[in-house]
Amino acid sequence: MTKLIKTINEMKKISKSLKLQNKKIGFVPTMGYLHKGHLSLVECSKKENDITVVSIFVNPTQFGENEDFDKYPRDLERDLKLCEDAGVDYVFAPRASEMYPEGYSTYVIMETLTDKLCGKYRPGHFKGVLTVVNKLFNIVQPDNAYFGEKDYQQLIIIKKMVEDLNMNVNVVGCPIVREEDGLAMSSRNKYLSEEERKSALSLSKALFLAKELFEKGETNPQKLKEEMKKLILSYPLVKEIQYIEIVDPITLEEKQKVEKGDRVLLAVFVGDTRLIDNIKL
Ligand code: AMP
Repeated sequence: MTKLIKTINEMKKISKSLKLQNKKIGFVPTMGYLHKGHLSLVECSKKENDITVVSIFVNPTQFGENEDFDKYPRDLERDLKLCEDAGVDYVFAPRASEMYPEGYSTYVIMETLTDKLCGKYRPGHFKGVLTVVNKLFNIVQPDNAYFGEKDYQQLIIIKKMVEDLNMNVNVVGCPIVREEDGLAMSSRNKYLSEEERKSALSLSKALFLAKELFEKGETNPQKLKEEMKKLILSYPLVKEIQYIEIVDPITLEEKQKVEKGDRVLLAVFVGDTRLIDNIKL
């Protein structure tokens, strides 16, 4: 039976008691509107821990002023049912007013890694992400925390925060879960019209093309990016390619010559919906 926890105090009490019982806590932070990508993280956590906690919190501090905080899809009842079926022990769904009460003023800022890729186009985004993840870790006290490679830059940044701040959490990265046709699962896919959904395939198709060309011997990042761009722009409802980059998987620095293990990342607007995806070469 999944138990819904709505206050920080109650969640803290539960974590404390689990710790006293020597239970291993696995934690999956999410913004809800769950899909199979989220559930794959739950599955990993269930295998490696005694107790699995999922948080559902649409974190206001990681959205820019003109972004989709207000319209972000929310359906707690549906999420609870999915968590129940997946065998989640606790869902922690705090109120924004409790996470960020009047006068809230402490944030986590990382001086590297956060100004690149998504960070360049979403100023303040990673400050919000790191702050909320830090708070959630303090509340839930997990042994292991599970994040998707779907948000690759986020995963790398969280690993770095945990290392830099000597936090007692093991951060586990999990592979991207895709729809049958290749589209990376995302709560934001709900925004797409039927026609936009077709153009959204351009992201994964371009990533698969880059991998294929690299495997055939192409190591010039400019050439790979050109081919990707051509393919993406051939889809009618692509409004803008925000970035395509091929980077070192740890430093996120752009590569001059592409090597095995490098990461191709991209952000593309399909209609008004901003989608991201990435692949390991
Ligand atoms: P979100 O609710 O979008 O903030 O995502 C919560 C967690 O689920 C993050 O660690 C994401 O990287 C992960 N996630 C989202 N979509 C996918 C996916 N398609 N495959 C794997 N993990 C995902």
